[in-house]
Amino acid sequence: MEFIDLKEQYKVLKKEINSNINKVLKDGQYIMGDEVHELENRLAKYVGVKYCVACANGTDALQIALMCFGIKPGDAVFVPSLTFFSTSEVVSLLGATPIFVDVDERTFNMDYKKLKKAIDDVKMDGKLNPKAIIAVDLYGLPANFKEIRKIAKANNLLLLEDGAQGFGGSIDGKRSCSFGDISTTSFFPAKPLGCYGDGGAMFTDNEKYYELMKSFCVHGRGSEKYDNVRVGLNSRLDTIQASILLVKLDAFEKNEVDYRHKWAKKYDEVLENVDVIKPIIPEGFTSSYAQYTLVFKSNEQRDFVRDFLKENGIPTMIYYPKPLHMQKVYDGYDFNLNDLKVSEKLSTHILSVPMHPYLNDDIINQVCDSLKKALEEFGNE
Ligand SMILES: *Cc1c(COP(=O)(O)O)cnc(C)c1O
Repeated sequence: MEFIDLKEQYKVLKKEINSNINKVLKDGQYIMGDEVHELENRLAKYVGVKYCVACANGTDALQIALMCFGIKPGDAVFVPSLTFFSTSEVVSLLGATPIFVDVDERTFNMDYKKLKKAIDDVKMDGKLNPKAIIAVDLYGLPANFKEIRKIAKANNLLLLEDGAQGFGGSIDGKRSCSFGDISTTSFFPAKPLGCYGDGGAMFTDNEKYYELMKSFCVHGRGSEKYDNVRVGLNSRLDTIQASILLVKLDAFEKNEVDYRHKWAKKYDEVLENVDVIKPIIPEGFTSSYAQYTLVFKSNEQRDFVRDFLKENGIPTMIYYPKPLHMQKVYDGYDFNLNDLKVSEKLSTHILSVPMHPYLNDDIINQVCDSLKKALEEFGNE
């Protein structure tokens, strides 16, 4: 059994993907070929924003977004404490200070009440300049942008949506990657929309940011190729990856997101009477189910279930075993640490089970049967 079955997806899409790759090989435009611009236009349309710029990966997308915001040393950027390292890494890389904000126990996303408090604390402390918020759509569920947007506005902070896991989700019919002043995503193979290597994209309605993004992606270029007007990166999406994503975006729109909802619902049903916390999707929100994540009663119970499933050939993952403020790289970091207890607890209680569009009833029943047995055995110990 695969945790995310990319090989099965390839089997289904093989003919079109191979044909698109072959076309790129024949055309010879390996960098910035027409497919890249076609993909950017289609992604912007899907998300419902004016502009999209593709780049080399989701981490660069975040970094470039912060560069567009002008983030610099002395700035405070608010990030959730339970997310992939990139989210705070890019803040540190630019010399600014990440301020970790705890997550909500039910949605796993940034807790907006604690965000408010963290902003007040930084202002009171007076040493850093509160500048931006990076909210993450963890496991595919959009962060609470209704509240976070209000807080950003009230405090004059820029808002960046890290939609690396969120592509395909929505709030009140508005799609993920449209909620930030800039929003970003990743096309790492295991993400909801993935390519066959690294890739990423940035989204905005702001023309000024759009022009900056295009420049930062290509060594800070000006109007001519060898005209450099700022310091940038070399961060482009390969034409081959764009050509693969064009096929995958078709499938994503046609049925893959629907399948993710279908399999999540099936998990919900089969586990209905099982004493474990299932994902909660707030009213008006939809998730792209990058992960289907369960919360167990204790660290011991979680680890027992994980080991039991493993022995039965069922792959699981822990996203993430260590909150960001507890990572070695932030040794000596001492701001706001006593208010991050939910992320600390979740990291020891959560477990993600196989989730992808190419699941079927049999696989889900097998996962759930094993899980039920594991809980019984744990109870009998
Ligand atoms: C995967 C991921 C990233 C980084 O994307 P890459 O394409 O791997 O650089 C950033 N943020 C979150 C939340 C992610 O899950």
